[in-house]
Amino acid sequence: PILLEMRSITKEFPGVKALSDVNLVVRAGEIHAICGENGAGKSTLMKVLSGVYPYGSYEGKIIYQGSESKFSDIRASENAGIVIIHQELALIPGMSIAENIFLGNEPRKRGAIDWKAANRMALDLMARVGLQENPDTLIKDIGVGKQQLVEIAKAFAKDVKLLILDEPTAALNEADSRHLLDLLRGFRSRGITSIMISHKLNEIEAIADQITILRDGRTVETLDVKADGVDEDRIVRGMVGRELSSR
Ligand code: ADP
Ligand code: MG
Ligand code: MG
Repeated sequence: PILLEMRSITKEFPGVKALSDVNLVVRAGEIHAICGENGAGKSTLMKVLSGVYPYGSYEGKIIYQGSESKFSDIRASENAGIVIIHQELALIPGMSIAENIFLGNEPRKRGAIDWKAANRMALDLMARVGLQENPDTLIKDIGVGKQQLVEIAKAFAKDVKLLILDEPTAALNEADSRHLLDLLRGFRSRGITSIMISHKLNEIEAIADQITILRDGRTVETLDVKADGVDEDRIVRGMVGRELSSR
């Protein structure tokens, strides 16, 4: 079944048409890669989807779980289970892992924050992403790989159905990247849908079910990995829009 359809999305900034009639279809439970060169419109498309750019600031339709969604802000999309992890992580360096996971949504008992329960819940969420740390550890004291995992744990604290990751491995080393890709595979086996922006063909090949290629703010095509395989030439040609000489 189809979880999400973005239909004919157009988004302009002053002097820039970032997206022109872009279409995206994501099936429930899949990992959908979005690829394209820098400036192709990948991040803008995901910001439209997640309410960063609210309904009314773009043209086109978002059909999510069978009905049209008109998100007024990020909170509205999160309430629908759509959580985006931006390229620039949104963590507070001077606060702990647990504080960052809840950020204002801490469990409470008679009005006061219940830190015992919060720590227990944080440990549980951390276990789901394979993050072994003390929840009291400050964000600035852990590496970028673990910080990325905190962001994903935060997404689970919000009951995510559709997880969007914008170039999640861009700053990660190989071991951390591998851990992240394994995690996404595990989520898929539990029915969570992911959209991953990436230009790394090796990782797209390793985990994607479908690949949508954007170029200059337009959809080039969507490839089904099972049916079409990962034809690197086709993907790279789609991304850069020219015939490749010899590869
Ligand atoms: P990608 O994520 O594929 O690298 P973006 O979605 O970030 O591409 O950008 C698509 C186009 O829109 C680029 O030309 C970029 O310069 C422009 N753009 C993105 N965000 C803004 C913004 N907030 N204001 C003006 N132009 C923007
Ligand atoms: Mg970019
Ligand atoms: Mg981007």
